[in-house]
Amino acid sequence: MNVLLDDTNLQFRDSARAFAQREIKPFVQDWMRDGAFPRQIFKRLGELGFLGATFPAAVGGTEAGFLNLVLAAEQVGLASPSLVTAFNMNAMTTPMALLNWGTAAQHDEYLTPMIKGDLIGSFALTEPAGGSDALGSMRTRAVRDGDDWVLNGSKVFITLAPVADVAFVFAKTDPNAGHKGVSAFLVRYDDPGVSVQRMAMAPGLGSLIPPGEISFTDVRIPADRIVGDVGDGFKIAMNALDYGRIAVATKSLATGQVIRDHCIDYAQTRRAFGQEIGHFQLIQGHIADMVTEIEAGRGLIYQAAAAHDQGVAATRLSAMAKYYMAEVTFRAANSTMEIFGGYGLTAEYPIVHLLHLAHLARTGEGAANILRIAIAEDALGFRSMDRHNIRHRAVLERS
Ligand SMILES: Cc1cc2nc3c(=O)[nH]c(=O)nc-3n(C[C@H](O)[C@H](O)[C@H](O)COP(=O)(O)OP(=O)(O)OC[C@H]3O[C@@H](n4cnc5c(N)ncnc54)[C@H](O)[C@@H]3O)c2cc1C
Repeated sequence: MNVLLDDTNLQFRDSARAFAQREIKPFVQDWMRDGAFPRQIFKRLGELGFLGATFPAAVGGTEAGFLNLVLAAEQVGLASPSLVTAFNMNAMTTPMALLNWGTAAQHDEYLTPMIKGDLIGSFALTEPAGGSDALGSMRTRAVRDGDDWVLNGSKVFITLAPVADVAFVFAKTDPNAGHKGVSAFLVRYDDPGVSVQRMAMAPGLGSLIPPGEISFTDVRIPADRIVGDVGDGFKIAMNALDYGRIAVATKSLATGQVIRDHCIDYAQTRRAFGQEIGHFQLIQGHIADMVTEIEAGRGLIYQAAAAHDQGVAATRLSAMAKYYMAEVTFRAANSTMEIFGGYGLTAEYPIVHLLHLAHLARTGEGAANILRIAIAEDALGFRSMDRHNIRHRAVLERS
């Protein structure tokens, strides 16, 4: 029961839950053990309309909206707190930026196949010199040469790079023009000059959401694969993160619930000093904090999603939802280590894996410190986070 949801939301959530419990959950352990990326699941997520939830019918979307997308992502995340990252990348960050900034031809060739689950996308902003200062550390260059752009440089930590078909790549087109000197390009992984190295990650982070390092050596990109205008890249990246942050917040919400359920089960059954450890008040403190904070985070995420549905500027709310929910889940993961004692470090329970996922959510799409600074500067009146007010195109078209 959730008082924020109506019957349509509940139906959408329940069908996502049925799918995720039937077609994802039973297979997750095998996929992770075999290091296999379940591409076929993306086809199914596309066919069932989950990937296209926030997209207009004109590009193949189902127009279910952001709140429903969050509900579906939460269910995928409850079935697999890892796989939901890949889901988000193909339902939110990459295709939403393409919807808002791409041409009709780019929608046909890349966006529609992505939300149908036929094409796997990725979002390539971070470089080896650092992710938080994405602009200052960007060394990748694109230089115009006749009808093409020629791309040189590299990206790191790019989720799905080893299995994806296309990357949304940000490169400097004018190194002296600050944030107006960055442009966005659609780069195919089979373009000559593109190579990918799978990154070695902590256990559990490498198979369902494989990150890769991408190198670009004299890659020729036809001019019609620039997204937006020359110099729009940084704005596009920031706009994409508005959506990505709701997605990461939702992943944290799911991870937090999985953590919570493990803790409650364990505290109800593990005995010490003649009783279940759940009877000790110091353990109860951890449980009380995690169940309360998870519900508080849920409210913030639903509010951010509803703001997107109403076409209200939602940069601030999305950042707050991502920052808060990731902190909550990270705290819960640390509490889990305490509740599980030594067993938290064994392979018998997935606790270390969940801790890694919680840390990842604090880091990606705006590290905790960076969001904290932005939220404080907004609150202090130094710089409004909603100043760009880039509204969701589907809402614009309806209004
Ligand atoms: C598994 C995984 C998947 C990822 N997927 C993608 C992807 O698909 N696409 C993509 O583009 N990137 C991706 N990333 C990269 C991610 O976005 C970056 O890791 C993140 O932006 C932080 O950058 P960094 O790791 O280089 O840390 P740094 O920027 O070097 O920061 C290191 C630490 O310093 C802190 N810090 C930095 N600046 C400040 C400051 N001004 N004040 C206070 N503290 C500060 C940060 O909060 C952080 O804790 C992924 C990362 C991981 C681990």
